[in-house]
Amino acid sequence: MHTSLEVRFRGKRLLIDFGEDWLPHAADLHVDAIVLTHGHPDHAWGLKRGAPCPVYATEATWKVISEFEIRDRHIMQPGRAFRIAGFSVEAFAVEHSIRCPAVGFRVTAGKKSFFYAPDIVAIVDRSAALSQVQLYIGDGATIERSLVRRSGEYVIGHTPIRTQIGWCEKEAVPQAIFTHCGTEIVSSDPAESLARVAALGEERNVQASIAWDGLEIDL
Ligand SMILES: [Zn+2]
Ligand SMILES: [Zn+2]
Repeated sequence: MHTSLEVRFRGKRLLIDFGEDWLPHAADLHVDAIVLTHGHPDHAWGLKRGAPCPVYATEATWKVISEFEIRDRHIMQPGRAFRIAGFSVEAFAVEHSIRCPAVGFRVTAGKKSFFYAPDIVAIVDRSAALSQVQLYIGDGATIERSLVRRSGEYVIGHTPIRTQIGWCEKEAVPQAIFTHCGTEIVSSDPAESLARVAALGEERNVQASIAWDGLEIDL
């Protein structure tokens, strides 16, 4: 399925992203708020016909999805922590797309924080985004082959898992899970992909693995 992550803490539920695959399930959503990383179809278009709760996104993302039938809209500014449904959520600009400027989210609940960036070339302010983070949830488009392209003064696309594990090592993030997997992972033997990612993590002292639809973890 397209990207969507539900975060639960003390009876509150926050949803991050809701890609187009999820559109038929939009009416069954029982969450307190939704935040969107960017306006690409595989992250936001499940909300085309509206949302049953407040939705938070950057101004750039709202421009891309202005036609959507969402009534309760909130604008997030990168670099400022927002209190959303009992969570502290801070957006950090990431390089990924020119048309659909993207952010990653640093989410804190209680004493735990994680960072979530399903589509990413680079985090603009990486040290701040990953400081005191227990878990990095990143872009599983490719394991080692780069899908980063240059477009004028911008870099766009997807950074390989290997590079993202390197960021975790540098910023002392102990655990990484890769989601939104590309064909390299989806079309190969799951055990083999998991072993490759775990081995790359071991080289860098990061516990690294791959997510799957329905995966639940306790942080
Ligand atoms: Zn994207
Ligand atoms: Zn995507």
